[in-house]
Amino acid sequence: MGDPIRMCVACRERRSKYELLRFVEKDGLLYFDPLWRSEGRGVNVCPSIRCLEIAVRKNLFCKALKKRVNYLKLEDLLKEVKLSLRKVIVDTMRLSRKFGAVTLGRTAVDKEIDIVRLLLLASDLEEGIKNYFINSGKPYRVIFTKEEWGVIFVRRPVGIVGIKDRGVADKLLRHIDRFLKIVEVVNGG
Ligand SMILES: [Zn+2]
Repeated sequence: MGDPIRMCVACRERRSKYELLRFVEKDGLLYFDPLWRSEGRGVNVCPSIRCLEIAVRKNLFCKALKKRVNYLKLEDLLKEVKLSLRKVIVDTMRLSRKFGAVTLGRTAVDKEIDIVRLLLLASDLEEGIKNYFINSGKPYRVIFTKEEWGVIFVRRPVGIVGIKDRGVADKLLRHIDRFLKIVEVVNGG
């Protein structure tokens, strides 16, 4: 069975709901719903500057929700989404580590590479090491710096994180891929 399909309110393309950003209204305010959990009617938008800009400029949030909602200006909305997704990623990683689904560091990940489902490589990891792990053929994403991973886990820099559980890997990818698109947007101006 495939993922549930939703339509982006701006470009009107249909995608898996897990690729989209969902927003909901509460007490007249618009909230980002990172885990697709909040009750009530939601508005879905692609994680792209183009679609978010259209949604804000054409007031599509209000139109889709059929009521007046207040929301941040585009720049702040992007920041909120970015922070919120980052928190979901960090929380998921920390919890997964408690359950033994996460392996940290070059040596440990290399040892368990056969059961690794997803590799997360620090953006400032040395090219040679990065390529070595990319060549393993495992799915990977480049996210956070060694320092940032260190803060999340062990308080020393971590260049490589391996996810050993398929369910956790699938769930994380939904958040990471949306996060990386938003980070591109925020960094790109
Ligand atoms: Zn769109």
